[in-house]
Order: sequence, then C-alpha cells, then structure tokens
Amino acid sequence: MDTKRSGFNTKLIHAGDFKDQFKSASVPIYQTSTFAFESAEDGARCFGGESDGYIYSRIGNPTINALERELAILEGGYGGIAVSSGMAAACTIYLTLLSNGDHIVSTDAVYGPSRGVMEKEFVRFGIESTYINTTDYRNIEKAIRPNTRMLYIETPANPTMDISDLEVCSQIARKNNLIFVVDNTFASPYLQNPLAFGADIVFHSMTKLINGHADIVAGIIITQEKAMYTRLRSMMINLGCNMDPHQAYMVLRGLKTLSLRTDRAQFNAEHVAMFLEKHPKVAWVKYPGLKSHPQHCLAKKQMRGSGSTISFGLKGGYEAATKLLNNLKLALLAVSLGGVETLIQHPASMTHSKVSKENKLKSGITDDLIRLAVGIEDIEDIISDLNDGLMKV
Ligand SMILES: *Cc1c(COP(=O)(O)O)cnc(C)c1O
Repeated sequence: MDTKRSGFNTKLIHAGDFKDQFKSASVPIYQTSTFAFESAEDGARCFGGESDGYIYSRIGNPTINALERELAILEGGYGGIAVSSGMAAACTIYLTLLSNGDHIVSTDAVYGPSRGVMEKEFVRFGIESTYINTTDYRNIEKAIRPNTRMLYIETPANPTMDISDLEVCSQIARKNNLIFVVDNTFASPYLQNPLAFGADIVFHSMTKLINGHADIVAGIIITQEKAMYTRLRSMMINLGCNMDPHQAYMVLRGLKTLSLRTDRAQFNAEHVAMFLEKHPKVAWVKYPGLKSHPQHCLAKKQMRGSGSTISFGLKGGYEAATKLLNNLKLALLAVSLGGVETLIQHPASMTHSKVSKENKLKSGITDDLIRLAVGIEDIEDIISDLNDGLMKV
C-alpha cells in the first residue's frame, strides 16, 4: 500500500514497510555487525554504490533502516538517519554543517547539553553561538551576523514550554540563507511537522515520546532534501554514532502506540494543568493548551495538540519546589519526559544546573520552575498525588 498517502495511525503501523521471505508482522532484529557478499563482484558493487546491499551495521542495517524509513514518512522528509541518542543527533548536525568561523543563532531555553556542548566544546573549533528568546522574531533578526550559518529552534522549548513560530523562523532563515534546524522532541511527529513549515532538518531525542517507555536512549535526524541527508549520513557513519539493531527494534515497537499514548497523556496533562492553575500554592502554570500560555494561539496554529509536558512554579519558590518533589509518591523524581509514567524534575538544580545563573534567568528558567511530564496513569491518581504533595508545602 502507498503509506505516504494514508492517515497518521496507519503510517505508524505500516510505514516501515518491511517485507522478508517469511512475511514477518514485526520487523525482526538483524543482530549482526556484518553482511556477507554473494561474490567478489557483488562486494565491489555494494562498495561502489551500484547496489544497495548491506555491508556493515554502522553503515546500514535492515532493522535500523525500517525505523529510518518510518520516521522520514511521519515527518514528511526525504530520509532519516538514526543515531545512538538525541545528543548524537544534535552533535552530528553541528559537526556536519558548521565550520570554523561560522555562527549559530539558537533558542535560549533549549535542552541544556545542546547549548552546553556549543559553548564549551564547539567554541574550541571557532564556532560562535548566540542564544536568544526565539518567540520574538525581532530577536532572531537582531542576532544574525554575516557569518551566521544556522538557525536552531526548539519548540516547544525545554523547560519553559515557549513556542516559536515555525513559519516566521523559516522565512527569516530563507531570507538570510541559513540552515533551519528544529528540535521536535517535545512535540513528536504526531503533534508537529516542522519540515512542512520549511525547516531543512528536524531531529528528535527518540528517548522521549517516540519510544515512550523509558527503556531506550535514541535519536534521529530527518532532512528535507537528499543532498543534506547524504552529508549527514556520511558524518554519522564516520563518527560511529549509529544506532544498534536491538535499540531500533525497541523504538519501532514503542512507536506503534505513539498516538494512543500521546492522546491519553495529553488528556491527563490538560486536566493537571487546569488543576494546578487553580491551586492556591501555585504561582504560575505554562502549558500550551491553557489560554494563559503566551503563545496559545500559535500552538493551535502549528501543533495538532499541546503535548504532555507542563512547567509551573510555586509561590514558595526553590524551597517549595524541593519540598513538593520530596513529597510525591506516584510521580517519579526523574529527568526525561514523554513516557508512560509521570516524571517530575526541577531544572534549576537538575537538567539546567550547569547553565550559568545569568543565562538561566535570561532564558526564563527560574529557580521555582518545576517540569512535570505527565504519564498515562489514571488522572485521579496523578492529581491526588500532586494534591497531597502540595498540602505538605
Ligand atoms: C532529551 C532531549 C535531548 C537529548 O536527547 P538524548 O536522547 O538524551 O541524548 C535533546 N533535546 C531535547 C528537547 C530533549 O528533551
């Protein structure tokens, strides 16, 4: 069947389009490092690129390729490059497309290490970076320099839940000849397709929503065009940050229920957000589905749902935040998000503790900010856990 034209749920189940001689219903794990050639001539053809036969699992593997095909279809891109983690995806993009003397403009409230690696490591190779609030396009225009090569956006952003306008960012990138990269981890292809708004590259930490079961670390890069795909794939092969076939199998399995899990977690998140907004000890709540979210209308325009991650602050600040975290019984005190279980964390002391105080404040990562990744448990239990915890604050 032509899965490119079918609905999202059908794509989730069939887009990997894998067929073997046994007609296996699920994609088998090809747990092999290398593949034998039929003949010396066949080996020469594979290495010469005249045949698409498999050579070696760092270069390509049937299980991994099935996952790559599936994600490319879900994001509407040319091709996918599966990698060992979300950070491997970010670093492969940086290393492939930025050179000495280049400059990158990025969302300030990004995943901590995406910024950390730029400011601590890539700076050694002469790559400059500017981090700004990309929800206001004027900040982007002001930050662009003659040597700017890349516009890097995370939306919704971690952990502020700020939303940047994909269409406007894409226009700015075109006008200034920049490569436009979007970290789509917080939305997943179910809720948002940045390539459709003109992004050149979209990437995911599949550790989060796509795999969804808190049992695998994985990443993927999807490009709009073939030329960029070829360059990125070549870098991935040379860096050796490839995915493992077993890891690919796990993600393929988790991916099948992406829409079911997301619908349920989102239903729960909407109710939790409303509960928190009304609670007397809560100072503020940021969730794209709430009318109070500053980019609520934009979220409706470019996303098909609000997701399952909420950030909020307590009136009692840092102290109250730690008190709440220490008094929850159901929510796990853990980083990560987009899984079936409810997780809670405090960015100022955990994921963003290495970001300087000044940069944290500038990016809206206040000391009181708590990030809640809502799972698929019963909503009554999630709310009762939060209610009991808040009582002790
Ligand atoms: C987790 C995450 C990453 C990094 O992914 P890993 O799989 O942990 O390497 C990158 N971006 C965002 C938005 C994330 O949440």
